[in-house]
Amino acid sequence: MPRKRCCGKVEHVPCCRRFVPENSAETAGVDLFLEELEALRLKDVVELDQIACAEQMEISRTTFQRILHSARRKIAQALLEGQAINIEGGHYVMTNRVFECVDCAHQWEEKPCTLGGKHGYEIACPACGSMKKSKLENGIKQACGGHQHTHGNGCCGHHQ
Ligand SMILES: [Zn+2]
Repeated sequence: MPRKRCCGKVEHVPCCRRFVPENSAETAGVDLFLEELEALRLKDVVELDQIACAEQMEISRTTFQRILHSARRKIAQALLEGQAINIEGGHYVMTNRVFECVDCAHQWEEKPCTLGGKHGYEIACPACGSMKKSKLENGIKQACGGHQHTHGNGCCGHHQ
């Protein structure tokens, strides 16, 4: 039976696509897929539970577990063997980020955070120009502007 291809939703693209070990000759390295990095981001950085992660990426929990496991294995392997990590490829679709303005409650969407694109902390509210906003993560509000900030989720620049 052919395995169903996963197609996880990804909303964050890293600004650095290649990590190379110190003092190493050019190695082929491991390819970390974008949906694998997204799985790590949601689980280990945003710290959602597995059910929320799977919902956010619109894949089954089993698929999410498989992607997460694969991501951790590749990174561990690269660290142990001194291999480069290339972030590329995979089966995924990009999604927009949703923000809500703290000052005027306006909600809007921004394109995914891609190479050369705007990070959350650079984006002002299109309705009132305020830089204070929270990022809506699958309905879970990641508050920013000084309180209740989940570490490193990119909704504002203060903690990065
Ligand atoms: Zn506003």
